[in-house]
Amino acid sequence: MQSAQTTFANLRKDFPILQRIVRDNKTLVYLDNASTTQKPNQVIDAITDYYRNHNANIHRAVYALAEEATELYESTRDKIANFIHISNREEIIFVRGTTEAINLVAYAWGRNHIQKDDIIVTTEYEHHSNIVPWQLLTQEKGAKLVYIGMDDNGELILDDLDKYLATGKVKLVTFSLMSNVLGTITDAEKIISKCKEHGVLTLVDGAQAVPHMPVNIEKLGCDFFAFSGHKMLGPTGIGVLWVRKSVLETMNPFHGGGDMIREVHKYETTWNDLPYKFEAGTPNIADVIGLGTAIDYLTKLGMENIREHEIELTKYAIEKLSQVKGLTIYGTKDISKRGGVISFNFSDVHPHDVAQIIDEEGIAVRSGHHCAQVLMERLNVAATSRASFYIYNTKEEVDSLITALTKVARIFK
Ligand code: PLP
Repeated sequence: MQSAQTTFANLRKDFPILQRIVRDNKTLVYLDNASTTQKPNQVIDAITDYYRNHNANIHRAVYALAEEATELYESTRDKIANFIHISNREEIIFVRGTTEAINLVAYAWGRNHIQKDDIIVTTEYEHHSNIVPWQLLTQEKGAKLVYIGMDDNGELILDDLDKYLATGKVKLVTFSLMSNVLGTITDAEKIISKCKEHGVLTLVDGAQAVPHMPVNIEKLGCDFFAFSGHKMLGPTGIGVLWVRKSVLETMNPFHGGGDMIREVHKYETTWNDLPYKFEAGTPNIADVIGLGTAIDYLTKLGMENIREHEIELTKYAIEKLSQVKGLTIYGTKDISKRGGVISFNFSDVHPHDVAQIIDEEGIAVRSGHHCAQVLMERLNVAATSRASFYIYNTKEEVDSLITALTKVARIFK
């Protein structure tokens, strides 16, 4: 029987960029997947096929091309519904990415529902896009933004949540399902059930989770869910916001313009049906179609298998990295509680120096604050290096990373 590693190694041929030679004749080792993922030929071809053969605006004209484009665009909505397990396609809104999804909620829900002295709860390990929109909203409304703390293992301290919920002032709890820095998988079901007991809505930032593990929104029971296409083999500039219909119906439009209206008169307008009320203007048709193909690709591989592949790779990487002298890994080492994102620091070598030296070997890792400066403050560091894996990464690539880190150790001895 083939191991998950062998099966996954075979798919590298689908990704032309993985054959790239970079720097001084080195084959690319791409370990920055938490930032964005590479695209298989299937996704690239779907986008060019749309422009070559089906390009037309959607939802408007009756001619053949327009019908084809509309069908291709709308079929992605159905694929998403299956992929994240929801029964109502009207609840799926296409946006530019997780950032726009969260801003849409802060604007179109928040401005209607948040008042002075209300509390919004987020966590210490959020990406800036799940902090800044809430700062803007709470500052505008005279409301309060508070944080669930994190323990030294990189896990949330849920007693903090209990304390906030007990005030009776919390209107929204928002958190990422997987941290983009520590890889921690949040105990979402527990948080959501606590919030439900208090009638509090929940927003889940699924940017790091949806690409890497099975996600079932019906089972989760949250009210808002956001993710980005480019982190799951899809193109940049396309993402998804899912909102429970009963909540969506209480929301004002985000942008005004074409397609989101039913009738426009001089001084008043009525809105289009859901979800189109929230999709103003000509959308990113080609990239929606590309995202649909990315979902086909992931579905064929199986999200359970993808999670298994990443567990094997992450376990291997943590074992190897733990043997490197002077290297600190942040977050939990319990593989059942984390994904394939590993943040580390190397003695007192600056993460940018680490990234630059290993780049000479063709290895791409991220260094910096990873758009999580609140978390950096909590960890008491300015920055970390971060290696993050996806379906096409191999144990040999982890070995290359370790060898390159040994070079860093030699240079800074
Ligand atoms: N949330 C998390 C957890 C992320 O990791 C990211 C991107 O790194 C985002 C939100 C923002 O995603 P995007 O830049 O695609 O809008």
